[in-house]
Amino acid sequence: MTDLHIGLVLPDVLGTYGDDGNALVLRQRARMRGISAEIHRITLADAVPEFLDVYTVGGGEDVAQILAADHLRTDGGIIRAADAGRPVLAICAGLQVFGRSFHADGRVIEGLGLIDATTSQLQHRMIGELRSAPSAPGFGIPGDDTALVEPLTGFANHQGATILGQDATPLGYVLEGTGNTDPHAALTAGLDYDECKKQVYYEGAVQGSVIATYMHGPVLARNPQLADLLLARATGQSVAELPPLDGDFAIQLDAEVEQLRAERLKA
Ligand code: GLN
Repeated sequence: MTDLHIGLVLPDVLGTYGDDGNALVLRQRARMRGISAEIHRITLADAVPEFLDVYTVGGGEDVAQILAADHLRTDGGIIRAADAGRPVLAICAGLQVFGRSFHADGRVIEGLGLIDATTSQLQHRMIGELRSAPSAPGFGIPGDDTALVEPLTGFANHQGATILGQDATPLGYVLEGTGNTDPHAALTAGLDYDECKKQVYYEGAVQGSVIATYMHGPVLARNPQLADLLLARATGQSVAELPPLDGDFAIQLDAEVEQLRAERLKA
């Protein structure tokens, strides 16, 4: 019997930036703890099963993300899963699609409304390394005092200017690079100047069981503590309760992740 069912949501349209790797990281970190885990590939031709343990959604091109938004909205499975508190990780286009609306291909598209965020379009793409200090309160399941403490690192590549509403909390505060929006968004996207200035330091969003970020990498390969947080939530335990990674490969993996983090944090 499989302990952990991971939903890889729409890799056929939201798989452009290597974010499918997030599902692989979850599966691997589960298996190395003796938790049997399986990835369910959910494509545009499928309904989204609403009873999986955790879902990952990746980034994609503008037209592809419109297809994704339409499918996820009409299907409703991911909305019911998130409403029921099942953990969801959404990256970049995923973040935009989970918001109230986003701008793509010259149109304003309705999102899933799971994150109180609206995304307009900038004149220039934001591309580059990104580093943030995790800030969202309430990480860890109730009774778990484990918080994300280490900086988050990822690679940004998008043209969205995302402004959060009051129901969403930023995942982190930008230390390096560009996060949800940039200082020019007030001019180029016609956004409120003061709000824009404040939110220039915001990266990603957390609302309910949805964690969203602009960080590619894949983000869970670069930030194992975020992977373990999702794993803990998906298996209904605290991070501290997760069994340690097991086997010779565990030591090698930890060393490789450390090396990757050090290299990327320096970049
Ligand atoms: N198409 C979106 C944008 O350019 C998202 C890109 C992405 O997922 N990397 O803003």
